[in-house]
Amino acid sequence: MDCIFCKIVDGQIPAKIIYQDNDYLTFLDISPVSQGHSLVIPKKHTVDFSSLTGAEAGALATTVLKVAKGIAQALGAAAYNLGLNNGQSAGQIVPHVHWHIIPRYPGDDLHLWPADAAESQRLDETFTKLKNIFQ
Ligand code: AMP
Ligand code: ZN
Repeated sequence: MDCIFCKIVDGQIPAKIIYQDNDYLTFLDISPVSQGHSLVIPKKHTVDFSSLTGAEAGALATTVLKVAKGIAQALGAAAYNLGLNNGQSAGQIVPHVHWHIIPRYPGDDLHLWPADAAESQRLDETFTKLKNIFQ
């Protein structure tokens, strides 16, 4: 399997692993955007979040919750962001699903979500497309 995260799971390439159980692994991101920036992955190769079953997504989220709390407490982080890039256009570079945990510190001045106020017509058009999709 030519997947860099599977190679970490298999121990073929090194990583700073801070948590693992039978199904999940957490290691420090090599290009952290804040101290303690970590990635939580399932050990089973799965390309992206959309490819997970509901049960798998739920179990991954449960692991993220546990690990994020542990990291924040250990590093004295005031808060944390969670990020998951699902698909190339969303910025997913490594095609093995991973959840970013990004600890936050007062005054760190990180801006993860550049956002402009939406034009109201555009917001209305979007709402029209979405408001009935689960009915
Ligand atoms: P994404 O853009 O969501 O696919 O993020 C991929 C992340 O994986 C980036 O933040 C990288 O810094 C990180 N990364 C890539 N290779 C490694 C590695 N060998 N060990 C730790 N983190 C890695
Ligand atoms: Zn993989």
